[in-house]
Amino acid sequence: DVVISLDRGDPKIYYTFWKNVDDKCKVTIKASDLMSYFADFDEGGVFYQLPEFSEAVHQVHRVVGNAVTEGRYIIGGTGSSQLFSVALCALASTVNVTPNNNMKKKQIPVVCAEPYYSCYEEALEEEKSEIYKWQGDANTFDEEGPYIEVVTTPNNPDGRLREPVVKKEGGMVICDLAYYWPQYTPITAPADYDVMLFTLSKATGHAGSRVGWAIVKDKEIALRMIKLMSLVTIGTCHEGQLRAAKILEFVANSYERLANGKLANGKLSNGNPEVMEQPLEKFFEFSHRMLAERWTRLRAAIKRCGAFNLPDYSPQYCKFMKKTSHPNPAYAWMELKTGEDAEKLMNELKIRTRAGPKFGVSSKYIRVSMLESDDTFNQFLERLSTLE
Ligand code: PMP
Repeated sequence: DVVISLDRGDPKIYYTFWKNVDDKCKVTIKASDLMSYFADFDEGGVFYQLPEFSEAVHQVHRVVGNAVTEGRYIIGGTGSSQLFSVALCALASTVNVTPNNNMKKKQIPVVCAEPYYSCYEEALEEEKSEIYKWQGDANTFDEEGPYIEVVTTPNNPDGRLREPVVKKEGGMVICDLAYYWPQYTPITAPADYDVMLFTLSKATGHAGSRVGWAIVKDKEIALRMIKLMSLVTIGTCHEGQLRAAKILEFVANSYERLANGKLANGKLSNGNPEVMEQPLEKFFEFSHRMLAERWTRLRAAIKRCGAFNLPDYSPQYCKFMKKTSHPNPAYAWMELKTGEDAEKLMNELKIRTRAGPKFGVSSKYIRVSMLESDDTFNQFLERLSTLE
């Protein structure tokens, strides 16, 4: 009789992997560690950023091949949510804004093709910034002048791969790549946008550490973002960075280890138990298998119950897995076949989901998280079966 919640993307699915790893990848912090505001004194560096964090970000992208990082600024944040606001602010403030009749600065429109990640709209509507404003669906945007398009690929909620749709002069793009990891989608090429956002929350499932990073091409934009980070929160928590660095390095090392005991980054793995002791099934194989199994079970359940449509995804060659693989999105984007209110039907089954209108589309649609715990996911399928 209890309500089960699949309306958030809380990545509990990865718990059993990390439970097995536990002490092999732990961070110890002494009372006197990490006391300064400052972590990196390199000229042009990010003053609050631990060098091992930046290094781990470079390493994991080099290993997975999902983003270009060479020659780019890596800017850590409190989750990619913080970096989204910081990037918007930095981009909008670089534009020459022309005063309108009221002598107020023109707000730069921010658009994203629907269905779009619900938090973009909610965050911007709540913030009421004076320099940018939420303008909804990118497909219907036809104003002249500067604008910012958010491209989420693979997309949350529908798992589709995306590219910018507006493509006008004066356009700036923020590419949200939270789900561009091999467990969710085949890695076909390193992403190479001016501003890219990633998050530990969806990469490895450590959402509670609140660590994200931006990869930024342009120096002026990067410096503005660092300045904003310094004004808003004087950087980010060093403990979180340290943990993220450890987790990312652990994952990357499991793939980069060479036969002679050396890691590709030149370090010797000999004698370092934390590096040596890797699980038999590596992280991306585990996470891909878990998601693929859930998708197979969900498709069978949806077919039996007959009430919903699910999107189809084509397999592609994954350069990281070195084989053709099927996308396993982090969310099931379910369309009610008959009737108008998918959320209401789910509420009757005491299943909490996120409804289409939050993503800019009709209430026939709901988004269901595929990342919940085994228990919740099993309950969800069981309750769906009562619709048969
Ligand atoms: N972007 C997308 C597309 C997301 O789905 C999420 C989390 N649901 C985020 C950004 C934010 O992630 P976090 O703040 O945990 O890094």
